[in-house]
Amino acid sequence: MNSNNQFDVIIIGAGPGGIFSAYELMQKKPDLKVAVFESGYSLEKRHCPIDGVKVKSCIKCPTCAIMNGFGGAGAFSDGKYNITNDFGGTLYEYIGKKEAIDLMKYVDHINVTHGGEETRMFSTAGTKFKKLCMQNKLKLLDASVRHLGTDINYVVLENLYNEMKEKVHFFFHTPVTHIEVLDDGYRVLYGNDQYADCKQCIVSVGRSGSKWMETICNELDIPTKSNRVDIGVRVEIPAVIFSHLTDELYESKIVYRTEKFEDNVRTFCMNPNGIVVNENTNGIVTVNGHSYEDPKKQTENTNFALLVAKHFSEPFKDSNGYGESIARLSNMLGGGVIVQRFGDLIRGRRSTVNRIEESTVTPTLAATPGDLSLVLPKRILDGIIEMIYALDKIAPGTANDDTLLYGVEVKFYNMEVDIDENLETRYKGLYIIGDGSGVTHSLSHASASGVYVARKIAEAE
Ligand SMILES: Cc1cc2nc3c(=O)[nH]c(=O)nc-3n(C[C@H](O)[C@H](O)[C@H](O)COP(=O)(O)OP(=O)(O)OC[C@H]3O[C@@H](n4cnc5c(N)ncnc54)[C@H](O)[C@@H]3O)c2cc1C
Repeated sequence: MNSNNQFDVIIIGAGPGGIFSAYELMQKKPDLKVAVFESGYSLEKRHCPIDGVKVKSCIKCPTCAIMNGFGGAGAFSDGKYNITNDFGGTLYEYIGKKEAIDLMKYVDHINVTHGGEETRMFSTAGTKFKKLCMQNKLKLLDASVRHLGTDINYVVLENLYNEMKEKVHFFFHTPVTHIEVLDDGYRVLYGNDQYADCKQCIVSVGRSGSKWMETICNELDIPTKSNRVDIGVRVEIPAVIFSHLTDELYESKIVYRTEKFEDNVRTFCMNPNGIVVNENTNGIVTVNGHSYEDPKKQTENTNFALLVAKHFSEPFKDSNGYGESIARLSNMLGGGVIVQRFGDLIRGRRSTVNRIEESTVTPTLAATPGDLSLVLPKRILDGIIEMIYALDKIAPGTANDDTLLYGVEVKFYNMEVDIDENLETRYKGLYIIGDGSGVTHSLSHASASGVYVARKIAEAE
């Protein structure tokens, strides 16, 4: 074999997990020959064709520029790095709570020293909102959050890439098809019968690589178990309604336990003065949100998701399949994402183009006016409506008729892969990290898992 195809470490996936593995290996063991294989493009070549004029909604590109490429699913995200064990994944169950927090703080330090110097860190510590939430049957979760914003997040990624590009071998637009176990390492196959070998392999393929990950686990007989799926809507309101919360906390993770079914509904991914966006997961269009640090790009609206978790185990195990079916239904009825005024939803009527145009909230995403009650199961929808009324008590105006609800928002989680406290599979030297492992669901946890395995490899070398 050609020595050009021989590496000490191969990383599959250049999302935050893969990037931080590569970065830490470069710091701790600069002599190691490290390669990163990524199915998407390099950062500057990642362009989503939706321009709001010629292309108004998702055209389902073969490689989604939003989800794939250097920076992974997080590249155009709001760049909210939450430092907490309360949400964003269960990394702490594998590596311990203190280590997990220390690694997230280290990741924050790298971000701050690579372009994030001017960004703010928000914290729930000592806030008056904890009491206010409790008094209204809501629970505010503890966290510190560094808000990079979509623009600075991009700058940080650019700086990290520039620092690594001469030392790490990047293979873009190169999806890995298979992994083979060799006597002394691993063979990574790609393209038409091409391959590269390595002593150790870090798999960090994120949510977009979930189906591929499942195949690899089947092929290599690595046990997995089903994970939950979160289903709900994205709420868009005038930013002033939530400004007392977002000015102090930026993002508040609030949980509400419904009276009717005792289900937990939670806020997720809050974007003050942000925009609502489409997200394409394996060809299914769902909704998400962004916000920018640059005041010129900010809007007058704030958006956040309200989600209900569903976990199926026996006899039906396919939680993600359930979420996909609901998202497909919304795509079938709306051709993509559906938008509905809260007032229309509770009056049992669909929203129309006219009603949306007459609304006092101007939508930031061109979605199809419709009826979410035809898409979301009653139990989930009832929970969301209850929570909107509960939030109205701490942020009056949330339950206004003109509040916009976009659906559906689905958070798919990868099945949980059987890994040990080193995030290593039953094969020595084969690590599975980040969202692809089902263990993390966030930028900070995925990045921290990358640093963790890089240090394990560096220590053993
Ligand atoms: C619109 C949006 C906004 C978000 N906002 C936030 C936020 O503000 N805060 C937060 O904490 N989280 C946010 N998230 C979630 C966050 O982006 C993810 O948790 C994080 O990116 C996970 O990192 P990862 O490295 O595990 O996976 P990913 O970022 O998904 O990266 C995996 C990479 O692997 C590549 N890949 C997949 N399969 C293969 C293969 N077979 N061969 C080669 N390459 C492959 C993919 O192309 C991808 O680039 C957001 C997600 C989205 C989509």
